[in-house]
Amino acid sequence: MFHQSRCNLAQWFTLTMGTILVLFAGVIYYQAVLDELKNLDELLYKKSRVIAVNARYDARQQQLDLENVPLIGSNVLPLGSEVVYARWYDTKSQIVQFFGTTPKAKLTNNPGFETIETSQTKSKITPSITLLRQLTLPVYQDNLLIGYLQIAVPLTSVQNNLAELRLVLLLTVPATLGVIALAGWFLGGVAMQPIRDSYNQLQRFTADASHELRSPLAAITSNAQYGLISQSNDLEMQRQRFGKIFDITKSMSVLVNNLLLLARHQGKLPAESLQKVDLRSLLAQIADEFTTQETAQHLNLSYTLPTDSINVLGDADLLRQAVINLLNNACKYTPSGGQVQLRLFVQSYWAAIEVTDNGIGISEADLPHIFDRFYRVDKKRVRKTGGYGLGLAIVQQIVFAHGGNISAKSIIDKGSTFQIVLPLK
Ligand code: ATP
Ligand code: MG
Repeated sequence: MFHQSRCNLAQWFTLTMGTILVLFAGVIYYQAVLDELKNLDELLYKKSRVIAVNARYDARQQQLDLENVPLIGSNVLPLGSEVVYARWYDTKSQIVQFFGTTPKAKLTNNPGFETIETSQTKSKITPSITLLRQLTLPVYQDNLLIGYLQIAVPLTSVQNNLAELRLVLLLTVPATLGVIALAGWFLGGVAMQPIRDSYNQLQRFTADASHELRSPLAAITSNAQYGLISQSNDLEMQRQRFGKIFDITKSMSVLVNNLLLLARHQGKLPAESLQKVDLRSLLAQIADEFTTQETAQHLNLSYTLPTDSINVLGDADLLRQAVINLLNNACKYTPSGGQVQLRLFVQSYWAAIEVTDNGIGISEADLPHIFDRFYRVDKKRVRKTGGYGLGLAIVQQIVFAHGGNISAKSIIDKGSTFQIVLPLK
């Protein structure tokens, strides 16, 4: 699936970039043709001006003198070898004098530049076609039209230059297309990576969640089945079975609630759900509730809260859930007689909540994974304490949703410190 998507991405990228590249090469070629023709036309115009300026017309005697005209005049040296022909037509478009190939007797085309084809029989079998650039220029003397000059030069140099450019484009365009295809393939891979990661994460999450739900469901089924098929009238036994079913469903509903919580609060909290939360009073409230809880009875709990209130923007219920999860862990993973401390203080622009215990600690190898969903350091031990490995993942998600951060420090058999930092209001 991912390979196919990557191929599609690379294909579309190559196609789009390739089309742009080919269009771009076309524009470059077209511009080069225009430039080459412009340069040649300027040269042709200059030559025709040099030729035309030597023509003399005697208005009184109505006589045209072309003797001193380069190429056309008989006693003037040729202007340049590249001129294929030069022709002089009178004002009635009749040919007067010419140099080069024999022209038609009458001028048929309009003044201006033109590209024309001529066939020269170099060998008897294959007559070669030559392209010429021709200029027909009306010549004036004292605002009086004295005739038309027509000269032509071969387009060979333009054709050669354009052939060179075509060769360059023909080599570079496919090579660039190849580079684009490779880049598309690479970029496709880069674009697919986060999708692949989140897909794998989702798959792992679904697998873990269904695995966690399967064992309690099996336990409920076996207890219910026993109650249904058992012939015994032992009420105490039946009560125990129902009690088990009740416990399991309770723990299942905790799991389902936790999964819902994780699914609901992805990304940052929407601005409208943020409220001013006084962390000092929130933590004081949690501390009060916790001291009376059964889980904390075997421990020395201490709370260090500031005298002034510390305000953050957030969801009070979610923040409460995060702190309770940390305190629950500290109590669960600290043996009887241990110490658990909850602290709240301000650190530059952040409010810091710290939960420290001197319990069993977490090894260096496990520490980077404890925020992963369903991650439990010691599976057997946590089964006993009834955890699913979701508590810290929930805390992390809540903290991230508030634009804060969470860190953990721990030394095995010495204890752990979890610190949440939240931006101050
Ligand atoms: P749940 O919170 O879903 O009931 P849990 O407590 O096992 O289950 P987390 O709170 O996510 O899951 O904690 C993940 C693991 O990190 C725990 O299984 C435990 O091994 C370890 N851990 C967390 N807090 C502490 C702590 N204070 N001391 C020692 N180990 C801890
Ligand atoms: Mg926990």
